[in-house]
Amino acid sequence: MKNNDYVFICKNCGNTGLRPFTGNKDMSPCAICHSKNMQKLDLSVKEYLHMKRNKSLQEYITRLFPEESKSWESNLNQAQIEHESFKKKIESESTQDNYIPTCPICGSTSLSKITNTHKVGKMFMFGVFGMGENGKMWKCDHCGSRF
Ligand SMILES: [Zn+2]
Ligand SMILES: [Zn+2]
Repeated sequence: MKNNDYVFICKNCGNTGLRPFTGNKDMSPCAICHSKNMQKLDLSVKEYLHMKRNKSLQEYITRLFPEESKSWESNLNQAQIEHESFKKKIESESTQDNYIPTCPICGSTSLSKITNTHKVGKMFMFGVFGMGENGKMWKCDHCGSRF
């Protein structure tokens, strides 16, 4: 924590935090709700952390923004739901991408995926002979086995 950190509040969801002071540049959006309705609080870092510890921060900011604070709870809930589903989406996408099968015959990881278009093309070209590959997803570039 540097001395020139400042305390900010998101007036859309009530999220508070510390940021390094970046002069007159626009504040970056809220990490939770992505609102740009951010405001610097007239509070030192020390005061902020103190209030956070003794749980008087919420009361302080609710008193500062009586109007805005009414919608914070629902805005925050909404933002968190969106944030969670976004996170889940990223997670499921990345686990799919990170799935690296290995060849059961030689253990090599240099495999090619046998795609559906591939199969359809093969079935078209070779008829029943191509059918044997149904259900097989990978071809090993190392030993040539399919599985
Ligand atoms: Zn926010
Ligand atoms: Zn292999």
